[in-house]
Amino acid sequence: MNYTNGEHYLLNTAPFYKRRYTVDGDLVIGCKIGCKFCYYRWIEGTSDLIGTGKTKTISTPEHMVEFITNSKIIRKDKDILMLSARSDASIQIKQIGQFIKILPYKNPVYILHRGYFSEKTLEYVEDPRVVYCTTLTPMGFDMGWTPIKEELQIEGLKKLIRNGISTNRISVEVGPMNEITVDKGIEIMKKLRDLGFEFLTFRGVSIGSFNVDPNEDKLKEIKFETNQEENAPEGHTYYKIKNYLAKEIEDRIFHTFKDIRLHRFTGSLYRDEFGIDIAYNRHNRYRQELGIFAKVDIDKLKNYIETFGYSVNSIREEIDGYHIETDNYLTEDIAMTVGAEFNTSVIFDKYRISPTMEDIAFYKHNKIFDI
Ligand code: SF4
Repeated sequence: MNYTNGEHYLLNTAPFYKRRYTVDGDLVIGCKIGCKFCYYRWIEGTSDLIGTGKTKTISTPEHMVEFITNSKIIRKDKDILMLSARSDASIQIKQIGQFIKILPYKNPVYILHRGYFSEKTLEYVEDPRVVYCTTLTPMGFDMGWTPIKEELQIEGLKKLIRNGISTNRISVEVGPMNEITVDKGIEIMKKLRDLGFEFLTFRGVSIGSFNVDPNEDKLKEIKFETNQEENAPEGHTYYKIKNYLAKEIEDRIFHTFKDIRLHRFTGSLYRDEFGIDIAYNRHNRYRQELGIFAKVDIDKLKNYIETFGYSVNSIREEIDGYHIETDNYLTEDIAMTVGAEFNTSVIFDKYRISPTMEDIAFYKHNKIFDI
């Protein structure tokens, strides 16, 4: 494949390919479940691995551990390792179990698992570092969006709980949902609350587009895309629509669930529910909804950025974070790592949302990702 974008290159070749609030990776890419809204349908290289029965092994468990050890972007014992980012854990649970057994760090391991949880899941992957993550899509089966049924997913969650997994170690996201499916979404969230969940995340609709046409007519036909706005962040190459939910739906959900903690974005989820360090910057802007960022020692901040191979020319503190001038372009991967290391907001004068192929050469040379 001829790569023009570094994140696209990593996505198709590396065990871990992206760092935002979590470091995202897989042992196997592709997914046999085949949800119609799967974002990886719209990316060249993964599009033929979604719902076709084909998958691709991208790393052995041993190589994944080595990659973590050698990659500066992954803060040992601290960052969340998000597994099955380009797949589903249900189709590679044994391999994930093997990886967890040999992982020598204390990093939390989040396992994205849309398939049904069972005693077998626990047999393979149970470890104190594991957080069980799942996404329930209201009316997803009825609308023809996914072959996975929410009711059976809830049965799977009950099995985890019955086997002693605290709901604090289960991260449930309800979504994608739109104005047609929101009533069912609220019903599901009530059931989860009754099961003892004290916090939940809910999501709107996302539609991607990266060298593959998302075929919006089809998405409209199945009522996945409705009157949603095109609201992907500026400069983003992957998304046409990202986590969109009409304001009135959002308000209604917040109003209905005053007795549990709701998260609309994952930054607050990881920080408040799991005590994880997070960056207060996103897309080179201060993300105000996360609250007040930490004050930092400027020399320490400079030294840390320089460990990635950049030279820092100046740093000044402003109302929206630390403004940093460097000799070379930094990417969102680095900005999110630096922000998390200091729990602060960092804004760069030379910034890119995703790496170019030149940035990949820089990543390689400086062992940012152990490519
Ligand atoms: S389960 Fe996840 S990875 Fe698999 S097709 Fe559905 S959205 Fe895609």
